[in-house]
Amino acid sequence: MEQNLFVYNTLSRKKERFEPLNPPHVGMYVCGPTVYSDVHLGNCRTFMSFDLIFRYLTHLGYKVRYVRNVTDAGHLEGDAGDEGEDKIEKKAKLAQLEPMEIVQKYTVDFHNIMDVFNVLPPSIEPTATGHIIEQIELVKAILEKGFAYEVNGSIYFDVEKYNQSHDYGILNGRKLEDLINNTRDLGGQDEKRGKLDFALWIKAKPEHLMKWPSPWSMGFPGWHLECSAMSNKYLGKQFDIHGGGIDLMPTHHTNEIAQNFAACEKMPAKYWVHTNMLTVNGQKMSKSLGNSFLPQELFAGSHSLLNKGYSPMTVRFFMMQAHYRSTLDFSNEAMEASEKGFKRLMNSLTLLDSLKVSGQNEVEIGPLSQRCYDAMNDDFNSPVLIAELFEASRIINSVKDGKLKINAENLSALKKLMNDFVLNVLGLKNEQAANDDLPNVMDMIMKLRNEAKMNKDYATSDKIRHGLQEIGFQLMDGKEGTSWSKI
Ligand code: AMP
Ligand code: ZN
Repeated sequence: MEQNLFVYNTLSRKKERFEPLNPPHVGMYVCGPTVYSDVHLGNCRTFMSFDLIFRYLTHLGYKVRYVRNVTDAGHLEGDAGDEGEDKIEKKAKLAQLEPMEIVQKYTVDFHNIMDVFNVLPPSIEPTATGHIIEQIELVKAILEKGFAYEVNGSIYFDVEKYNQSHDYGILNGRKLEDLINNTRDLGGQDEKRGKLDFALWIKAKPEHLMKWPSPWSMGFPGWHLECSAMSNKYLGKQFDIHGGGIDLMPTHHTNEIAQNFAACEKMPAKYWVHTNMLTVNGQKMSKSLGNSFLPQELFAGSHSLLNKGYSPMTVRFFMMQAHYRSTLDFSNEAMEASEKGFKRLMNSLTLLDSLKVSGQNEVEIGPLSQRCYDAMNDDFNSPVLIAELFEASRIINSVKDGKLKINAENLSALKKLMNDFVLNVLGLKNEQAANDDLPNVMDMIMKLRNEAKMNKDYATSDKIRHGLQEIGFQLMDGKEGTSWSKI
């Protein structure tokens, strides 16, 4: 097993040697999506970054238990604070659906999109609503330790009291006074004692839909609580890696640490890993700023910011070409460059299959392979890894052109290197090969079109026909149903 992996830890603000608590096991918890709307590309970047980390740790031989939750209750519109409606309930009311219908729809969509990006499923994907009992138990433990108080059936975490014996700002590096001074004043009706206090349990208003009985009230858990309860349940009081987007660090993760410390007197995770944001013209991509786009819009090229569409693996390559701790700015030029780069890499993979051993050996793959490991061992540096893989690609082309000779041993090392790093670690795949699936995909599209026709929804059935025509497919309606051909 590789012992030279260094991981940047937000807690120490340094790269640290990765030493799991209980090797070869690694416990990793990542904050998952709130399933109230489609995930945008920014969210996808974070999950692809942790997929890279999960894949590399697994490649090194670690037995990783990767827990990524689904937030299906308790996440209020105020995000960090305790204000506003529950995001899922609000959507459900607008759509006149059950909250669980919203949850189901967006969970399925999320899984589909992760699959399209070749993101591996986590080992466990627990939901907040499935762990109400664990969350209530955690609130009880924090109350017993004296770090929380009850007001009118709601329970709040007492940050100032906690900070007397612990360091509340341990993760964000801020002093309590500064944090207090930078928080806006409490409204008149606020039940909290201190500006930074946050809800562990919230008493539900009568019209609130998702609520559960508890010793304090019919209510629902605070958002920060679910991650503390579920990481604790599946990975123990202390585990190796806790991750999420950097935007979650100042409040959500800070509060998670406070909750776990308050209940168990232990720092939950040894390494806190944060991914940086996908930006558009330098601004964080986010739904509320209105600059987000959906993966499907990127594939189809249908968003006004896009010149054309890009395939899922081009998008994944684009994400992997940036280090996870750097911001990554979206642009058409960058996407075009990624498309070229990705094609180049895939072409060399195809060429590699046809390479033959040739005479006196002139290449050594060992040092190149070591440089690939060095790149990934340096805090999962995928852009440096990709630069090394382009070096491999040059070697492949030179051998193919007869400019370089390679022996059997180095040829099989080169194949292993490309297989390990391009396919398994970066999680890229050759999309050309996936064309074998085309008949099945076309069947499905024709089925959808037939359904639309049966429902007399001719606008949709025409849209499908014209859309297919634009990308080079002709549909023929006949007595025995519809068939298709490439134009
Ligand atoms: P949410 O569904 O809003 O809870 O977010 C899910 C995950 O996506 C969190 O880990 C966020 O930090 C992350 N995220 C949100 N916006 C972006 C962005 N523009 N770039 C990268 N990650 C993001
Ligand atoms: Zn979380």
